[in-house]
Amino acid sequence: MATNRTFTMIKPDAVESGYIGGILKMINDAGFRIVAMKYTKLSAEIAGKFYEVHKDRPFYGELVQYMSSGPIVAVILEKENAMSDFRILIGATDPTKADEGTIRKIYAKSIAANAVHGSDSDENAEIEGAFFFSQLERF
Ligand code: ATP
Ligand code: MG
Repeated sequence: MATNRTFTMIKPDAVESGYIGGILKMINDAGFRIVAMKYTKLSAEIAGKFYEVHKDRPFYGELVQYMSSGPIVAVILEKENAMSDFRILIGATDPTKADEGTIRKIYAKSIAANAVHGSDSDENAEIEGAFFFSQLERF
């Protein structure tokens, strides 16, 4: 198993609700190491760029508005099989369909306000991490 990295954001609904600590504890308890972390707020323009892959989907406008509605926490994580193990830890996009014990089952409010982002491939993890962190901020 290769040690590798993935990228996550704690989304505005979870930050607003005071779940940063609980979510980071679940992430640490699952064996992920934090490589870089930033508390910030996205402009609509930056959120639109981050989610540009979804620009033709019907929920794009809602997604951009939501992701720029309040602060987020951007994090690069390291673990064996980081990307796929993290997708398992967060659960399905729709929290009503997420498995028991997953981050979204516990903390997400809805399919739109679903508490966390998780990269969907190693390649996207690298791109998304680089979107938020320069080489100097990572170790
Ligand atoms: P993410 O990329 O944030 O980790 P995901 O990979 O589980 O989530 P995607 O299909 O990539 O799901 O959708 C990106 C985000 O768009 C979702 O996390 C959610 O916030 C929002 N979204 C997805 N489907 C819907 C929908 N039907 N209605 C509203 N928002 C949606
Ligand atoms: Mg996705």
